[in-house]
Amino acid sequence: MRSYAERLAEFAWLLRPIAQRNASLASHSLLGIGGMTDVLVFADSEAELLAALAQAGKLELPVRVFGSLTNCLLPAAPLRGVTILNQMSELYFEDEYRLRVAAGTSAARVARAAVRRGWDGLTWATGLPGTVGGMVVNNAGAFGGTTSDLLLSAEIVSPAGIQTVDAEWFDFQYRSSRLKVHNAAKREIVLWATFQLREGGPAQLQARAAEYKQRRLQTQPPGRSLGCVFANPPGDYAGRLIEAAGLKGERRGDVMISPQHANFFINQGQGTAAEYLELIQLVQTEVRRQFGTELELEIEIV
Ligand SMILES: Cc1cc2nc3c(=O)[nH]c(=O)nc-3n(C[C@H](O)[C@H](O)[C@H](O)COP(=O)(O)OP(=O)(O)OC[C@H]3O[C@@H](n4cnc5c(N)ncnc54)[C@H](O)[C@@H]3O)c2cc1C
Repeated sequence: MRSYAERLAEFAWLLRPIAQRNASLASHSLLGIGGMTDVLVFADSEAELLAALAQAGKLELPVRVFGSLTNCLLPAAPLRGVTILNQMSELYFEDEYRLRVAAGTSAARVARAAVRRGWDGLTWATGLPGTVGGMVVNNAGAFGGTTSDLLLSAEIVSPAGIQTVDAEWFDFQYRSSRLKVHNAAKREIVLWATFQLREGGPAQLQARAAEYKQRRLQTQPPGRSLGCVFANPPGDYAGRLIEAAGLKGERRGDVMISPQHANFFINQGQGTAAEYLELIQLVQTEVRRQFGTELELEIEIV
């Protein structure tokens, strides 16, 4: 068996037009926090994504696939092996209000295209950061809409090959799915998602999208964040509990609990993963101590 360094070098050479050695991940994450990875691949097409996965598999290199990294806290330590950013962006309006989308497509772009077309269902996602792959894995939702309500089927690739699965396969939970829980180990990657939408009026949908945009602007703080850090506990809001615990504006280094929305942690400059994790621990401890509520993470710690 060749050494890890030799296998990495071969991978980077074979994928050289789309692979970077020793790349920093921080600049590719909205939060601006992250260490290095051994090899970073930008997959712009299904062929590139499949080639990168196949080569990593053959060379027995660890591999992780992300979309836009809008929901992941990356470690300061190097991410070993191959990190793939899926940027494969395609979108097809099919019969009977079915929308087939490549997993690397921006979720907001898909939602805006559906609104313009007068297809109802995804309007809530017009301001959603991230890709369709991340949206499916996280069962993203907003303003009463949820991915699992619309997903009809998906094509996934795993070491066993490509298969089409239905929505039940994902075992969707609130802001989670079987891929969020097992993805790293099982290496099942979403290639395509098909959503079942319905007829709507473009003018009404556009008005609703504008209203949602306004609500996001009013409630969500600007700046570098991962969105909501904690999932809402049943019957309550994580942001309300954090605020009631007196933690708004609390900071560790350059990472601060937003004074505008307590469930957003903002990187104000040179924030680190360690500072972010300290704030998570502070919030969980204080909310448990003061209210007896366990706050579960909505973001993913990589
Ligand atoms: C300002 C802000 C506002 C937000 N608002 C909302 C909101 O209103 N509602 C909401 O639900 N979320 C919200 N989020 C969170 C985030 O936008 C969503 O979870 C988004 O869907 C993540 O997509 P991504 O491409 O960035 O995923 P990433 O962060 O890149 O990845 C998330 C997970 O999905 C996996 N993954 C990504 N693509 C694939 C694939 N093709 N196949 C297999 N696994 C894959 C990754 O390995 C990782 O485990 C917000 C985030 C921010 C920063």
